Order: sequence, then C-alpha cells, then structure tokens
Amino acid sequence: MRMQRLKAFKFELRPTGEQQRRMRRFAGSCRFVYNKALALQKERYERGEKKLGYAGLCKLLTEWRNSDETAWLADAPVHPLQQTLKDLERAYSNFFAKRADFPRFKKKGQRDSFRYPDPKQIKLDQGNSRIFLPKLGRLRYRNSRDVLGTVKNVTVSLSGGKWFVSIQTEREVEQPIPQGGAVGIDMGLARFATLSDGTFYAPLNSFKRHETRLRKAQQALSRKVKFSNNRKKAKARVQRIHSRIGNARRDFLHKTSTAISQNHAMVCIEDLQVRNMSRSAAGTTEQPGRNVRAKSGLNKSILDQGRFEFRRQLDYKLAWQGGWLVAVPPQNTSRTCPCCGHVSADNRQTQARFACVECGFEENAEVVGAINVLRAGHARFACEVSDAVGSPAAGTHRSDSGAAQCRP
Ligand SMILES: [Zn+2]
Repeated sequence: MRMQRLKAFKFELRPTGEQQRRMRRFAGSCRFVYNKALALQKERYERGEKKLGYAGLCKLLTEWRNSDETAWLADAPVHPLQQTLKDLERAYSNFFAKRADFPRFKKKGQRDSFRYPDPKQIKLDQGNSRIFLPKLGRLRYRNSRDVLGTVKNVTVSLSGGKWFVSIQTEREVEQPIPQGGAVGIDMGLARFATLSDGTFYAPLNSFKRHETRLRKAQQALSRKVKFSNNRKKAKARVQRIHSRIGNARRDFLHKTSTAISQNHAMVCIEDLQVRNMSRSAAGTTEQPGRNVRAKSGLNKSILDQGRFEFRRQLDYKLAWQGGWLVAVPPQNTSRTCPCCGHVSADNRQTQARFACVECGFEENAEVVGAINVLRAGHARFACEVSDAVGSPAAGTHRSDSGAAQCRP
C-alpha cells in the first residue's frame, strides 16, 4: 500500500542585505495584516456581528492594498498576506475547538515569518543551493541535505537573528508495517512522559544551564541605559539565548517522539485539552494550586505548547511507521488500581506514589497512569476496529487515512 508523506526540510538562508530588508518588511506586513484583521474581528464581535470568513477578509486585504493609507502593503507578495489571514482563521477554529487560547496580537520579533503557498511560484535549484521566491528573487541557502519529493509550500522565518527557509514537500512512499507493541503514556510534571513499561523521559524544563544564563542576561539588560548601544547588544544576547532554549526544547520533543514512535505500533495518550491543564495548575477550591509550585519553574503556556506539539509529532511519526495514536478521555487514569480496578482518590497518597487502599498494589503513580491509559486505549481501539463503517472515533487518528503532517 502506498501513502503520501508530507515532510519539511529546513535550511538557514544566506540572504543579501537587500533581501534581508525585504524579508523584514514582508514579515512586518504579514503581522500588520494579521493584527488588523484580528482587531476587526474583535470589533465585529463586540458589536454583535458575525465573524468575517476567509473570503471576506481577503476582499478587505485587496482594499487595504489599494488604499493610500496602507499602500505599502502592495509591496509585499500577496499570497503570504492571504496566508496570514488563513492562520488567523485557524487560530479562531483552534480556539472554538478549545485547543488553544483566544488569538493574540502578534508582536515584532516573535515568530516573524511568512509563507508562500503556491508551488508554481517557487523554484528550488538544489544544485546551486538557491531558491527562488516571489519578490525576493534567488536566495542562497546552506544546503545540508537533499530535499525529497515535490515542493508544496515554503515558509520563511526569522529566529535568533537568522533567516530560515522551511520547504514542505510531498512524496509517495510505501506504507510501512508497524514495529513493536502497544504502550500507554502518562504526561506529568516531575517527568515529561512516563510509559506503561516503566520507561520515562526527563521534564521539559531540564534546561537549567540555559535558563541560568538567560536570567543573568536579563538582569544585565535591565541595568543598561535605555537606547544605548550596550542595551541593544544585551537585548540581542537575551534573544539569542531564548532561541537556543527553544531549539533545545524542539530537539528534546523530536528525539522523544521519534524514540517512542519507532518502537511501538500503537501509542495511547490522554486526550488532555490545553485549557484544562492550565486550569489545573491554578488549582481548584478543593485543592488550591497543588500543581502551582511544580509548574512555576516553567512558563505554563510553554509546557502546554510542548505537550501539544509532542502529541502532534507522535501522531505524524506513528503514521509514517504505519502505527496508531489513540487518544483516550482522561477518566480516573491516576486513581484506578491496575491490579484490582478499585477507583479512589485515596489510592494516590502523594504525587509520586500509588498505593491501592483495596488490594495493596504499589507502583510509581505515573507508571500506573500510563498503564490505565493503555487499557483505555485498548478498549477504545477494539470498539473502533469492530465498527463496520470504520470511521475514526473522535479523538483518535487512523494513520492510513491520509497524509501525515510535518511542520517543524
Ligand atoms: Zn487494587
């Protein structure tokens, strides 16, 4: 059986000064359009009007490009500007599906990027390490590996003062036969992920070395005189460390998701919603802020993003291997005894230790959570397979139902 595989290849660009200035302008134009459209949607909401759809926003974009006030928008390529409106649409639907917080305004220097969606306008010349992009011309890039497949779209981004190009391609590959058995995963605080077989991965915030340096750099920055050259330098340093921490996190997530997906045919994971996790950190009236201290070492939203990203990676990497990701509703997974089935909050006396009050079974609490997730996954999977129609149940993903996604 053949399947389409999407994959992204990322390279550092080596732009000329003029190309850099243009990329900065294009990213700025995209940010402007995104923020303007978001402000407009908010106003419409406050007036009780319906949200504008993508087509409606594109019509407005044409007006903005033609108006004297914002005529400079016409200098930027039109497709990336439209893509930014698509991104806003996606941000809204993620919000409505409770997968993300309400869309926020973009700030300069935060994920500056723009995307060319039309392969016909992109020319990749791998032999000469050049890529042609509309209104930028031929750009040199650090050619470190072959790009496989046909180009679908290209994203240009700025990170840590450097410009990157991410080339997404599609190619047909043989559907692999999944290797390994089934496993459940418990996502925790003390450990990023614990598997039902007892394997575990360090917490996401274990980048202490970087974080100490970041704190020092931030302190140094706060002592610098405003608008001075030294302040500029200190600020660049802070941004560099930020991007290094981001890279270390991305690297960690990729390594972890690769290791797990390569060794298992079926992976079960709790279907946690991002906003639920944020709430549990703040605590309930019953248990005020039990998780607050544990999470305070790491910005909550970063932790949530990390988990979300981890799950996304597991999903497409398992699909590549011909495996399955099964999401199960988080019901009593931390309070059920895997030995006798007794459900009680008392089973979990501390965050780390599980001890069944009924049968006396003892085990690390995260391992117990993972075992229960695996069981729930098995039950869910069995239902799905016996379903004659074979339609994937909500929250589960059939890996062979379509192309796997990969965006770095
Ligand atoms: Zn028990």
